[in-house]
Amino acid sequence: MEQIISYADYRLLQGCIHCGGLPDTRDHVPSKCLLDRPYPENIPVTGCCNSCNQSFSIDEQYLVCLIESVLCGSTDPEKINRKYVADIMRRVPSLRARIENAKTEVDGQISFIPETERIYNVMLKLARGHAAFELSKLCYEEPDRFWYAPLSALSRECRDYFNEVHFQHILGEVESRNTQRLFITQIAVTSETGIPQEETVIINDWVYVQDGRYRYLAIDDVCGIVIRIVIGEYLACEIGWGTVDGSEEKE
Ligand SMILES: [Zn+2]
Repeated sequence: MEQIISYADYRLLQGCIHCGGLPDTRDHVPSKCLLDRPYPENIPVTGCCNSCNQSFSIDEQYLVCLIESVLCGSTDPEKINRKYVADIMRRVPSLRARIENAKTEVDGQISFIPETERIYNVMLKLARGHAAFELSKLCYEEPDRFWYAPLSALSRECRDYFNEVHFQHILGEVESRNTQRLFITQIAVTSETGIPQEETVIINDWVYVQDGRYRYLAIDDVCGIVIRIVIGEYLACEIGWGTVDGSEEKE
């Protein structure tokens, strides 16, 4: 990953990004269990306390095993593609049994009923990490909006909207990594009177941590703070704080 140094006020980010307590440790965002070896260089890290750090690990383990079970249609370690996950399935039979018990089969179609609370816990952790690292914003509060779904389950229109780059309206925290990542370009538009013209836009693009494994888009704009995440090009999630998303369209 490209290494960008944040020049935002460092006092914004002291303490554990989840509870504000003493940051005894540092946490990778995304966690390495969501990535494959060889790991990308410069995975973002944020300050975290031991107690918050530990509270996520079991749910992260659940989420990676669930996603892989869905993609492979089985909890059988022999049929699981990712070696890391196959090893967990062998080592923690109780977790495998729990996911297996959530399996349903309708007309030959295998699916797994997800434990939403655990997915929420992991996604919130990731979103807080991206908000802190990219946007220099701490989001201790519970988010105002949260949804997750398989990318393939979204309507084409929703999926296209979700995957789009974000056109930035206002600039966020001065010199945060995100503001350094933004780029300005010209796009061709047609005016209301039908005359073609060029318009200058500021683009906030997705960050690809590892192709096919993990990408995210961190937005701090008139729509509030919005973090979009895609894991394994399968599971999409959006978490938001502040102004209701979509307000930018009503301007
Ligand atoms: Zn903490």
